[in-house]
Amino acid sequence: MTAQIIDGKTTAMQVRAELKAKISALPNAPMLAIILVGDDDSSLIYVRNKQKAAAEIGLKTELYHLPKDTDEATILKIIDDCNGNAEVNGIIVQLPLPKHLDTHKIINRILPTKDVDGFHPYNTGMLQNNEKPYFIAATPLGIMKLIQNYCPNLSGKNVVLIGASLIVGRPLATLMLNQECTVSITHIHTRNIKDLTRKADILVAACGVAKLVKADWIKSDSILIDVGINRDNGKICGDIDFDDVIEKAAAITPVPGGVGPMTIAMLLQNTYDAYLIQHSAL
Ligand code: NAD
Repeated sequence: MTAQIIDGKTTAMQVRAELKAKISALPNAPMLAIILVGDDDSSLIYVRNKQKAAAEIGLKTELYHLPKDTDEATILKIIDDCNGNAEVNGIIVQLPLPKHLDTHKIINRILPTKDVDGFHPYNTGMLQNNEKPYFIAATPLGIMKLIQNYCPNLSGKNVVLIGASLIVGRPLATLMLNQECTVSITHIHTRNIKDLTRKADILVAACGVAKLVKADWIKSDSILIDVGINRDNGKICGDIDFDDVIEKAAAITPVPGGVGPMTIAMLLQNTYDAYLIQHSAL
């Protein structure tokens, strides 16, 4: 049997259409402030995509594009100004930041109620406690939406994550645990990784290694979520070798067209929610 394609692009378009209708009913457009330091090629593309997607549904963005040698105090001042500006509903700092900057210190300066990336310790801590944070990071949130559309009851599922980053693997592990899954988090130092991945009902690859996961890494009829965005001979591909696994898995997210579009849709959703939170409507 050929795996079912979990179509993130279509789901994301539905989310965006619903948001567009809701935003058009607001008295004024929600605003997202984006802080970008330096000229990293991927970051420039990601920021451009976020601005374009926001504009399409009637969200405003304000880009603070700063030189790569900008000092910490300048960035903290911009965050303080945005925190205090009632017209700014959400604030994101495009990561990674240049090495001379303290990422945690900068992220932690954002008000939790404006932290639409969901990286502030208040928001990650509330998620850990299985309480309601203001915001959950967009990529894990989008993945949960895709998985739950496909498989509404996750209780008892064996989930294996490849990658333990702060923006994908760790929050996703918590979200899965909160849905009563049995979760294993693997990373670059994990020994005999295939012994774990072969037991996964749901396998999530978020490690940034092109086509790492082959058919012999997976269990038959598993659900595969591919977060990776890599280039292989100039072509975009994921962390899972799509052609190798397609006849063995039950379902898979494609790259492109899977997790990526959902990440942007969830950021827009979080910004809309931020507006409601700040207008005490949520
Ligand atoms: P990261 O570099 O912060 O973390 C990578 C993780 O993978 C680490 O925990 C590392 O130990 C682990 N890892 C690396 N090589 C491994 C290997 N050979 N075996 C097992 N584990 C390994 O990366 P990140 O920011 O989480 O991003 C991961 C990938 O997901 C990248 O390709 C990135 O572009 C992509 N990404 C996509 C989206 C999206 O919206 N689709 C969002 C965020 C990240």
